[in-house]
Amino acid sequence: MAAQAQNSGPVISVASTFVAGLRQGAGGNWIGFCPIHGEEPGRSSPSFSFNEETGQWHCFAGCGAGGLPQLLKRLKKSDSYIDRTMERVRPFLVAPSQKKRTSISSGGIFITSYPLPEKILGLFEYVPSELVDAGFKETVLVDNDVGVDVERGRTTYVLRDLHGTLAGIIGKPNDPGGGGKYRVYERELVEMGFKNYHINNRRFFWRWEKVYPGIYHRQEDPGPIYVAEGYKACLWLVQQGYYNTVALMGTSMSDTQQMFLERLGTNVVLCLDNDRWGRIGTSKIGYRLRGMDVTVMRYPCPELKLQPDDLNKTEIDEALGRPLTMRQWRHLYHEYSTCERPAPLGDQP
Ligand SMILES: [Zn+2]
Repeated sequence: MAAQAQNSGPVISVASTFVAGLRQGAGGNWIGFCPIHGEEPGRSSPSFSFNEETGQWHCFAGCGAGGLPQLLKRLKKSDSYIDRTMERVRPFLVAPSQKKRTSISSGGIFITSYPLPEKILGLFEYVPSELVDAGFKETVLVDNDVGVDVERGRTTYVLRDLHGTLAGIIGKPNDPGGGGKYRVYERELVEMGFKNYHINNRRFFWRWEKVYPGIYHRQEDPGPIYVAEGYKACLWLVQQGYYNTVALMGTSMSDTQQMFLERLGTNVVLCLDNDRWGRIGTSKIGYRLRGMDVTVMRYPCPELKLQPDDLNKTEIDEALGRPLTMRQWRHLYHEYSTCERPAPLGDQP
């Protein structure tokens, strides 16, 4: 254990068993050698940042970011080990918000009130062949907790709060037509023994726990956050190198989602589908985020490609490299933006 870490709280004492050379920095952030890509003291400079208040980490050398559960996962710790560790440190994770620069995740609204044990995911630890066939890399699927509910024939996606704590599971039927509806697991979890379990998935972004620490820990310009409609589109953008992508899980934005983007404060690039519903959503979200720097991904012409996962890497680089301003977008798609003042959306689905 690093000498520096000995006088610190339980969160750092856990982190220091994996992260070599942890040294205290500013604002609850500790810097150390990245255990994921195997940095060694004396051989490389430390590029791993860990926040003791939130348990969130970020590797500046490109390993990504996330909460403590994801770090342990990346280090190949067992689910039961992760659950034991999280049970021990969770009470210390929410910061008393007395600091000037308080992490937004200490506010409570972005933290689940019903944490689920990581070991549930053991049930779904299969690689969805449907997505592998569609060109997704296995490593990307595993890193993003995409699995299979074999019993019910569904591809599973996992919702986490900003600390990275498991909060919910969504299943999509593997029907050949692809038209199956997403299902938020509530009854399924109650049947597994989680009494009174409920979740409002509209209070979450998919992947926000991975995007947030990277943007928050970075002192200089962190670049934009990309906002996609569905899981598949989001995952495709991630695979093409746009790590800071989240999914709305629909075509509308909830109040909690809006609050998250506003508090994050970085540029937003809207990457919704290029169909009627995606455009209506883009128009409304653009309006609601009008105080922010918002642009829209530029779909190639002619418009044969309807969603981000229809585009290849070159097309995506082009579409995101030169995004449209909201004004340009409204000019192109004026029929979808008839200056409506959309009624504020609640968090109800
Ligand atoms: Zn790393």
